[in-house]
Amino acid sequence: MRGDKKAVILYGPPGSGKGTQADLLVRRYGFFHFDTGQYLRRLLNDPKNKNNKEIQKEKKLNEEGTLNTPAFVLKRVGEETRRIARMGLSITYSGSPRTLFEAFGDAKHKGLLALLKKEYGAKNVFIFRLLVNSASAAKRNAGRLMCGVCGLPILAASKVKTCSFCGAPAKRRVDDDPKIFAHRIEEYEKRTFPILAKAVKQGYTIKKVNGEPAPYRVHETIAAHLERTK
Ligand SMILES: [Zn+2]
Repeated sequence: MRGDKKAVILYGPPGSGKGTQADLLVRRYGFFHFDTGQYLRRLLNDPKNKNNKEIQKEKKLNEEGTLNTPAFVLKRVGEETRRIARMGLSITYSGSPRTLFEAFGDAKHKGLLALLKKEYGAKNVFIFRLLVNSASAAKRNAGRLMCGVCGLPILAASKVKTCSFCGAPAKRRVDDDPKIFAHRIEEYEKRTFPILAKAVKQGYTIKKVNGEPAPYRVHETIAAHLERTK
């Protein structure tokens, strides 16, 4: 990929393939895929943090099933993002920032979008919205398989139902139960639309991408946008 390091935010309903698109940016261009949930789990469970009172408090919330303090999440995600940016890496998020506060902060806290703009430059921050109709997302989702051992996705369209990496049999993703799926789409819309609307108001361009074609073709559309200078 030519030019400056980039920050890419991918939104899309469950089944739209945003995680796959993030992974393609990782594999093809060396992006860092920032998975907020995974990062927080690692932070809270790191034995090195066992004497950190703030982290232990958040860990307890987590274990009780209570949401972590938004300001804590934003601060930590922000620090880690800055660290990655300063290592000179392009970064991609799939489905996050998840809340208005994470995206835009408030009077006291700088939001993630402003931070990305500062670290990467406004012209290098890209927000994509993957569009799929809900029937085809549901269908794609119902057929979505992953390796039961290493977690690698397995293309549902393929005749081979074993993992190409470790050879283990495929299984269906647990969170992809059709009943839960419709609810997850609704949740996604409720959560994401206000973020997109506010981003537009603040002058960000949201690029809509058709998420229906095969993942490599969707990737090519995204890559073409990234190559374009704004
Ligand atoms: Zn495997």
